[in-house]
Amino acid sequence: MGRVLLAAPRGFCAGVERAITTVEEALRRFGAPVYVRKQIVHNTYVVGDLTRRGAVFVEELDEVPDGSLVVFSAHGVSPAVKQAAERRGLRTIDATCPLVTKVHKEAVRMAEAGYEIVLIGHAEHEEVEGTYGEAPEHIHVVDPASPGEVTAQGPVSWLSQTTLAVDETMRAVTELRKRFPDMVDPPSDDICYASQNRQEAITRIAPQCELVIVVGSANSSNSRRLVEVALGAGADAAYLVDGAADADERWLDGVRTVGITSGASVPERPVEELLDWLAARGYADVERMTLTEETRTFSLPPELRPTRKPG
Ligand code: SF4
Repeated sequence: MGRVLLAAPRGFCAGVERAITTVEEALRRFGAPVYVRKQIVHNTYVVGDLTRRGAVFVEELDEVPDGSLVVFSAHGVSPAVKQAAERRGLRTIDATCPLVTKVHKEAVRMAEAGYEIVLIGHAEHEEVEGTYGEAPEHIHVVDPASPGEVTAQGPVSWLSQTTLAVDETMRAVTELRKRFPDMVDPPSDDICYASQNRQEAITRIAPQCELVIVVGSANSSNSRRLVEVALGAGADAAYLVDGAADADERWLDGVRTVGITSGASVPERPVEELLDWLAARGYADVERMTLTEETRTFSLPPELRPTRKPG
């Protein structure tokens, strides 16, 4: 029967681990409820699990009662949101991924240096909203698929959302450079190591696969990019599922090799359930295809770091 190629790295990245641990640790130390502005990470399983344990997910701060503790999600927030929390006297813990914070800092630095900044990303995504909020009068958001629609006066630089497809972003930069030949590059890659590794891992596997299934939620940018990357790399078909319940047996018609990966916000349990679902349908032969080992970790926000005992 068929075989499965299981990509690695897949699943949780260091920023997601940190954000989830932040909420868990806040619940442990301060007790429920802990409010979280927006989904802590874009994954249905994670949000459901933390909700059962006492986290309350809200869209905006006005849903948070006075005096409560609120955690900002891994995707980051604009300074305006932080200021609003401060005005309300809310206790806050910022679980923004340090690699998103790095992009915020680059935006501030470039704006202060007088650059107009083209921010390549999806305007509706929370991460882009947060970065944009650092210097709205200097930032122009452009979609990676249609970078031609930006106008800017004066020196121009560019930044990007951390979870874009690398190839599509580089094509957008090439397009932009035709308009702005002196456009200044960011000091380092904005697309994070986790997005790059997961994309590269599935790129290696996809040409051997008639079908690729990416485990991830529909609002997860990096998971959606994995579907596009798999198709671009030669998979005949690729689908995004939250878990085995979304998989369709008809996808398996005529398929010998199935590639499996998962986005950076996805726990391993739904991946294991999908492997069980495939095994029950004759795809029990699983080969692990490891591109590289990831060892990166991020320390928790300062409010949650262990306190040193005096003396
Ligand atoms: Fe941070 Fe990248 Fe993970 Fe997003 S995907 S939380 S930017 S490491």
